[in-house]
Amino acid sequence: MREAQLLFTICIMENTPAIKKVKTCHFCENNLREVDYKNVGLLNRFINFHRQILPRKRTGVCSWHQRKLSSAVKRARIMALIGFTHK
Ligand SMILES: [Zn+2]
Repeated sequence: MREAQLLFTICIMENTPAIKKVKTCHFCENNLREVDYKNVGLLNRFINFHRQILPRKRTGVCSWHQRKLSSAVKRARIMALIGFTHK
């Protein structure tokens, strides 16, 4: 019984993907110190359809850059480069 259970767990483990994709910070990778609020094309990558800022968990941005990114998005909204909401 125990052996069967053990085999079962091994099979489950084999079915799971062995290599997990590691998300890295886009800004750290490209050595970008500041996040430009005028670069709308880049900011669009970090907001969703409803113009909400995506969480770090989704994008893989580091905490330091996430704070810079959120203020850049908010600045771009005030400058009317990005909408506050969709429609
Ligand atoms: Zn970073």
